[in-house]
Amino acid sequence: MEPQLYADSRRVSRFLAAQADPHAVLAAELGPAYAEYRHLWDQARTFQALPPFPLHVDYEMKFACPLACPMCLMSLDEAGRRAHGDPGLELSARTVMDLAAEGAAQGQKSLGFGGLWEPLLAPELPEITAFARGLGLVDVMFNTSGLGLTEKISRALVKSGLTRLMVSLDADSRATYDLMRPGSDFHTVVANIENFLDIRKKMGRRLPLLRLSFCRTALNEAELEPFLARWSGRADFISVQAYGRYPTPRAPAWPRAAWGGDGPAGVCAQPFKRLLVRHNGQVGPCCDASGLGLSLGRLAEGGLTEIWRGEKLAGLRRSLLAEDFSGPAAACGPCQAKFGPRPAAGPSKPC
Ligand code: SF4
Repeated sequence: MEPQLYADSRRVSRFLAAQADPHAVLAAELGPAYAEYRHLWDQARTFQALPPFPLHVDYEMKFACPLACPMCLMSLDEAGRRAHGDPGLELSARTVMDLAAEGAAQGQKSLGFGGLWEPLLAPELPEITAFARGLGLVDVMFNTSGLGLTEKISRALVKSGLTRLMVSLDADSRATYDLMRPGSDFHTVVANIENFLDIRKKMGRRLPLLRLSFCRTALNEAELEPFLARWSGRADFISVQAYGRYPTPRAPAWPRAAWGGDGPAGVCAQPFKRLLVRHNGQVGPCCDASGLGLSLGRLAEGGLTEIWRGEKLAGLRRSLLAEDFSGPAAACGPCQAKFGPRPAAGPSKPC
């Protein structure tokens, strides 16, 4: 079967699905709760209804990564990195589980381990995932380099109820991988991915869906076609991403993918559907590196419900809708170029 091509609502990625629309697979596996969650998601992303609590919350449990990818802030020197976080601080598994319980009671549907870190550095990931799914959170996911995806952790993740595992691979050869993902090892990661697929099959599970991603830059774009040839039909879906021009001085002026959004700025819907809780207790409105300057407050000052319904986030939403980047949404100006026109109503794509 030929892979199907999807474009996402942000024009940052295009998706190739191996056998079926990943949403259809997730809906079949997870039942009506998944359809209800995606309906709420579509209402939020098209500004039709603001949910009473973020539909999705990302947790950055640590500020650490063994890699130094040139497109990531973690590739900055130590002083540069420290401007964005403190490696001495962490969110405990207990804190994440308490917040997930608060969220599940308030209408949260989805949980991610996101932000500036490598989630497989947290050994409690399967335990937290199982706890979150037990609370009724429908979708639990994270991005990883895949370097720490051992057979043991693969088994634990499949058993935990994780719904999406997203591995950033970005290359089809060791030489190119070393440029894109310094600190990792291409052959280890490829073997880890293949072992994961084998383990999931042997355990008789369809989930977590495996997404592989390819962030297209001047360093790796010659390997896009061989990458697609290797993984189409094996990964459940593939995301080919335009480089987002994050504020990393070491990154060269990489080209945008042809489907990327250099057109007129649109309206970002992230603060209408999600929050990010950082390792230091700061809460932000999105998972974008540009949004690190948009702190909405600290956990110690109030719960996520207060932050979600508070005036600071309301002001940011008003500024985004007015496309006014002079006040609360000043940090959004450079980021907005990544977004396409105001999203249309209708089914959203996997993101
Ligand atoms: S920085 Fe602003 S525009 Fe960019 S994702 Fe975050 S909230 Fe949206």
